[in-house]
Amino acid sequence: MNVLVINCGSSSLKYQLIDSESEAVLAKGLCERIGIDGRLVYQKTGLDKEVTDAAMPTHKQAIELVLQALVNDKTGAIGSLSEIDAVGHRVVHGGEKFAASTLLTPEVLKAIEECNDLAPLHNPANLIGIHACKELMPNVPMVGVFDTAFHQTMPRKAYLYGLPYEYYEKYKVRRYGFHGTSHSFVSKHVAEFLGLDYNKSKIIVAHLGNGASISAVLNGECVDTSMGLTPLEGLVMGTRSGDIDPAIMEFLAKKENLDIEGIMGILNKKSGVEGISGVSSDFRDLEEAYEKGVQGAIDACQVFCYRVAKYIGAYAAAMNGVDVIAFTAGIGENSPFVRKMVVEYLGYLGITLDEAANAERGDDKVISDAASKVKVCVIPTNEELAIARETVALVK
Ligand code: ADP
Repeated sequence: MNVLVINCGSSSLKYQLIDSESEAVLAKGLCERIGIDGRLVYQKTGLDKEVTDAAMPTHKQAIELVLQALVNDKTGAIGSLSEIDAVGHRVVHGGEKFAASTLLTPEVLKAIEECNDLAPLHNPANLIGIHACKELMPNVPMVGVFDTAFHQTMPRKAYLYGLPYEYYEKYKVRRYGFHGTSHSFVSKHVAEFLGLDYNKSKIIVAHLGNGASISAVLNGECVDTSMGLTPLEGLVMGTRSGDIDPAIMEFLAKKENLDIEGIMGILNKKSGVEGISGVSSDFRDLEEAYEKGVQGAIDACQVFCYRVAKYIGAYAAAMNGVDVIAFTAGIGENSPFVRKMVVEYLGYLGITLDEAANAERGDDKVISDAASKVKVCVIPTNEELAIARETVALVK
């Protein structure tokens, strides 16, 4: 079965065509600057990347261009559109309505729309992508895979905030968590990789990318995660602050004469390791500056890693132990420097690092040594493949 995986943002759209039997990526790419001017990036597996400037005033036109590229005589990955058997859409927020992936029926689309309030930057864009695909491929089954779904197993004590309960009742203000597709994929995969029974395991997944979150997965179910009502809470990220004293907002608003939008802009776009360092949000730049002794970069790296280590400690406590810690996403997969700095805090858990294994490149691997009481692993995430698998499971 060929599954087209779509991750639609407000002005960009990423896609992959995946053969679900072999799990091979047949083609992938993205549309950028939708509604502005438009650029299509397309790559059939095994061939060079093609970049074309192409007008795409709407998402529908962007998807049309993707479909044309997929069936293009010269470099198309398939002969005709009838070879697309299903489409899997990433949907950011499913609120409390969706604890699992689901077929996108008109009722489901309405329910997703009702979650727009909770993710005003993401859900409307996801829906635009879904509607555009439905118009262009009316007979192809479509599935929604939610970033929040995996975390719906959290107990009330983990998802209720210390706020008046009426805000939960009236507005559903609670912890939801994000990156759920990745936390689910990586926790299952690491259990399989280590030969553990997923349903009898204590796993901490550290998804460290530009956006970063961490989760506690007990016996195959998420019991806590660091992102909250929105993806702003928790770890210090590329440009997001993560946890702060909420009173800082009032303090800064007064000092800097800012309204709530101004404050939110600072917390989302000007904070995190970029805000601390004044160097960059990218760990490649930060590590370079750290080595050169740039104080801002030293602070940013230390604050970032210390926060990750504190959450690992909290989640080991939440699960009364931990069997496995899995690092994933851009930083988690590619930065031995960050992994080492985090693991150095974890000696009290009986964790010892295999420095050589940590420094090596490569896919799934164990980076703790034989004496370590907890296995520490690097597991590349693959959200597109996870979406394709979920889609096939519902369409078959
Ligand atoms: P997102 O999906 O949230 O945009 P990614 O998971 O793609 O983020 O991670 C991107 C981040 O990964 C970059 O900003 C950078 O900090 C980090 N990164 C990527 N490659 C490396 C590397 N080789 N060394 C250190 N950090 C890296």
